[in-house]
Amino acid sequence: MGISYKQAVSEIIEAGQWLDSKGFCPATAGNYSIRLGADDMAVTVSGVHKGYLTAEQIMRTDFSGKPMENKKSSAETLLHCGLYKLLPQMGAVLHTHSVPCTVLTREIKADHIILEGYELLKIFPGIQTHDVKIRIPIFENSQDMVSLQAQVDAVFKKYPQTPAYLLRGHGLYAWAEDMTKTRHVVEALEFLLSCELETLKLRRT
Ligand SMILES: [Zn+2]
Repeated sequence: MGISYKQAVSEIIEAGQWLDSKGFCPATAGNYSIRLGADDMAVTVSGVHKGYLTAEQIMRTDFSGKPMENKKSSAETLLHCGLYKLLPQMGAVLHTHSVPCTVLTREIKADHIILEGYELLKIFPGIQTHDVKIRIPIFENSQDMVSLQAQVDAVFKKYPQTPAYLLRGHGLYAWAEDMTKTRHVVEALEFLLSCELETLKLRRT
């Protein structure tokens, strides 16, 4: 893996400022990480505002979530670990809490959303045309990260191309090879899910 801890810290701080400017991380919500090697990552600590991150608010853990320094990791760190273990080629994970993701997943009762016919779908890896369907799973929100990760693992077995997932009434998890691409995936999905929410509102008026 080609990224130093120092570089990872700087990319995470910058991502936090950007996500805050978009309104995707209210209060202390969300967490962000970058893979450092085969079994470690830099990840935001628990309970801090992500728009004003400092280097001290980022820590190193292994992929069992065990801190490699004396700082407190968030419970959701385990979901980052699960994604890195599941997707060895992935280099960064962003977890956001936006209004569209929260409202839409409370309104839609299904266990997934299909995104179809949008030009922006071409942002997702391996997709050349807008003429495709992208399936974004929705998991029931839970504080039991082990059980949640088991559900994520099961969905990936069935749908290995899954580009992101949602937690109901909670937020979005997105990933890609590096932080720049992960930011593109988050921005594209937030746009697409906002479109879905606006469509739902129009259909109800
Ligand atoms: Zn969260």
